[in-house]
Amino acid sequence: MQTGSGDRAIVAPGEELGVEEEYLPGDNAYVDSGYVKSMVLGVAEWDRVNHVVNVRPLKLSLIRPGQIVYGKVYYFPNDKVAMVRIFAVQQQDGVRRIQPETGILYVAYASEERIGTVYDAVGLGDLVRARVLSSKPPYHISLRGPLLGVVETRCPQCRAVIIPSSTVSRLTCPVCGFTFRRKTAPS
Ligand SMILES: [Zn+2]
Repeated sequence: MQTGSGDRAIVAPGEELGVEEEYLPGDNAYVDSGYVKSMVLGVAEWDRVNHVVNVRPLKLSLIRPGQIVYGKVYYFPNDKVAMVRIFAVQQQDGVRRIQPETGILYVAYASEERIGTVYDAVGLGDLVRARVLSSKPPYHISLRGPLLGVVETRCPQCRAVIIPSSTVSRLTCPVCGFTFRRKTAPS
């Protein structure tokens, strides 16, 4: 696997790429227990001159328009937009994890109802099931539809984890009774 300069191979996350004494971890590589390992599914390239191994992530482009994906809300640039880290796609045989991709949720696609801000549909850290609208990253996503929306959230008041059982626009925390707006979907 490591013979000659510029050797390449497809490697899996956590796969050993060499020993620490021989190679430095380059892009998408790390050292664990004396071994250099890959952080990602990708193409590893061993630079024997500089003793560095880099891994270029494979873009499998599993995300297509119309696809159902799962992601976590991680940032609000403003009150009309939520940024979502897409980490899984729904396939015929189940949910498959993917290299994380960036999703963008605009308030107009966050609910069938007319809502003022994106906070009326999702909260920071929420797990959402969404439909992909565009074909290139960052992917535009939609929560419009009975099976789409927040599938796991936390109560803003007591932080209890809430897993909605149906599509609603308002949740009541079963622990503390606090009510708050979300566009939910049954998990
Ligand atoms: Zn609560």
